[in-house]
Amino acid sequence: MNRRIPVIPHEPLIIPRSEHNISRANISENALKVLYRLKNAGYAAYLVGGGVRDLLLGRHPKDFDVATDARPEEIRKLFRNCRLIGRRFRLAHVRFGREIIEVATFRAPHDAGEGGEGEGALRDDGMIVADNVYGTLESDAWRRDFTINALYYNIADFSVVDYTGGMADLREGVLRVIGDPRVRFQEDPVRMLRAIRFAAKLEFHIPEDLSRVIHEMADRLALVPAARLFDEVLKLFLSGHAHLTFELLRQHGLFGQLFPATQHYLEANEPFTLPFIRQALINTDQRIAAGKPVTPAFLFATLLWTPVRVAAAGLREQGVSPIQSLQMAGETVVREQQQTVTLPRRFQTPMREIWTSQARLVEHRAGKRPLAFVEHPRFRAAYDFLLLRCDAGEVEPEYCQWWTEFQAADEEVRQAMCEALAPARKGRRRRRRRRPRSGNAAGRRTGQ
Ligand code: ATP
Ligand code: MG
Repeated sequence: MNRRIPVIPHEPLIIPRSEHNISRANISENALKVLYRLKNAGYAAYLVGGGVRDLLLGRHPKDFDVATDARPEEIRKLFRNCRLIGRRFRLAHVRFGREIIEVATFRAPHDAGEGGEGEGALRDDGMIVADNVYGTLESDAWRRDFTINALYYNIADFSVVDYTGGMADLREGVLRVIGDPRVRFQEDPVRMLRAIRFAAKLEFHIPEDLSRVIHEMADRLALVPAARLFDEVLKLFLSGHAHLTFELLRQHGLFGQLFPATQHYLEANEPFTLPFIRQALINTDQRIAAGKPVTPAFLFATLLWTPVRVAAAGLREQGVSPIQSLQMAGETVVREQQQTVTLPRRFQTPMREIWTSQARLVEHRAGKRPLAFVEHPRFRAAYDFLLLRCDAGEVEPEYCQWWTEFQAADEEVRQAMCEALAPARKGRRRRRRRRPRSGNAAGRRTGQ
């Protein structure tokens, strides 16, 4: 069942305060300040988007977005702490310390013609490139992506306004696109990623017909600028539901659009790839749940590890040193990856260090090097990465055990551990070389 964008105005469902659970006590004080100031200046002011959706679901919203009939310039005049941003969508950001309340003027559909004001542009291929046509509350509702994201909380009477059937879909736990999914994904292919993100975050169902359209249109993501996809990838994987998101992206044929090289190895059943990524994402989710920091560098290091590892193994066979082969492989993989999803430079350096450190952790333990490396600020990330590789079965557990003990030990014991290693390491190497190489999983295990 598709809800078509109506041509003639349509009566919304209005849910009065007594019939919904949104309480002002759960709305941020700053968002309330913005809503009231707009209202007192004579404008319409509504909370919209994820804030309303999450409050109705009894969850804590990540942030609060406001929609109003005030124009960007008028919004700026009302708030001293306000900045106008964005070209594609012109928005006002009202800042209160670390909290930013996003205030947007009601928009009309991009093809609003004479009815709307401002600028809207649709490219020949149906993509929206500018979307600054102002409209009404109703037109604003119909241009949003999913019905559950198009609910408005009216500060004038505390009611919820529903034009698109979002309340029913919230109750049923269904993700439904507003209008024809083919048209809406053509306008903005990122909406497919947003569908996956909300399905994972809210544990909502993606109906069969929507799932089919996503499959069909997945390759449209290639039209989205790689820098915008970076922002989306962070939202997909660093919002606390990375593991489920990954499974859903794969199910819907979207993962390969973001990480083609990794997808290649997943399809080829390259050993350790799937368990490694799954474990990395499960850990990421656990860290977020525990309030620990997570970084894009570590995330990308895990998502791209298989292509780097396999390419590095090829270089090693040609006689390139362990560290250099990881460096060279990393460079090639990053260069290719930049074509789909950009990773900003500031994250590339720590990511490459995680990769090259793997050689320090596995191949270069003899001598005094571990004594300095363990004190290095980047050691922790490299070690965590090694633990993941051990968990996935790609590296012998003894390497992790050794480093775990080494970290806990005092200076004297550390020195003894390094000294003890040199002859022992030689012995192990010789034994390993005699082991027959089957060319399968075991043959590729690092440290053999
Ligand atoms: P989150 O909890 O992640 O913040 P959200 O639904 O608030 O979820 P935002 O990206 O903050 O998502 O966007 C706010 C609202 O703007 C959405 O709820 C939706 O109504 C609308 N929106 C955002 N991106 C799009 C898009 N690409 N196409 C149509 N509507 C969009
Ligand atoms: Mg939001």
